[in-house]
Amino acid sequence: MTDRPSARVFVTPFAGERPYAYTVASDRAGVKLRGLPCPPYVDEHGITWEPWGGEQTGNQRHEEHHPARQRACVKQRLCGGCGQESDEHPQFGRLWVLPDAPAGWPCEISTTAPPFCLLCARRAVRDCQGLGDDFVRVRAPVARVTGVAGTLHLPGRDPEDRIVPIADGLRRHMVARQLVLTLEGALLDPAPLYEPAHVGLGS
Ligand SMILES: [Zn+2]
Repeated sequence: MTDRPSARVFVTPFAGERPYAYTVASDRAGVKLRGLPCPPYVDEHGITWEPWGGEQTGNQRHEEHHPARQRACVKQRLCGGCGQESDEHPQFGRLWVLPDAPAGWPCEISTTAPPFCLLCARRAVRDCQGLGDDFVRVRAPVARVTGVAGTLHLPGRDPEDRIVPIADGLRRHMVARQLVLTLEGALLDPAPLYEPAHVGLGS
């Protein structure tokens, strides 16, 4: 089997990747980052993104997302495992593997997790077996970017880690690290994750 638990995961940072050191100036117009080797990325919403540098070397920190790769996955619905197209069922929508089951279905779920392709979902489910039944496979026909997570820098106030609605003017005071998706009409995945046994799990 070639897809071992140690296989790289597209959206999570490596030991060699870190944010650049920077300072933040905030006024009524928003934030400005100082001390960087190049200007930070400011997206189409006027949101300033935390700039990261380094190399994809060493172990991966699976409890984190790399900001630029998480943004790409969420905006383009790319698979968080491999960075390729995520799986889309014609009726039930795209596929997520999420850490908690909501109380009832269908439901609305807010998450920073990118969707998965089938192969990476199989890998995630298999590698997380030690976590028991807490992980759920979810399909959602509609997924909208509704928020941004990061550190809010308001003039005269202490910085604060927050999630801000994407339509809120406070977004210009954020140093962003993740986009937040709202999954609408989310259901427990009714589609089979595995092909029949004679097809195998793929690799
Ligand atoms: Zn994948």
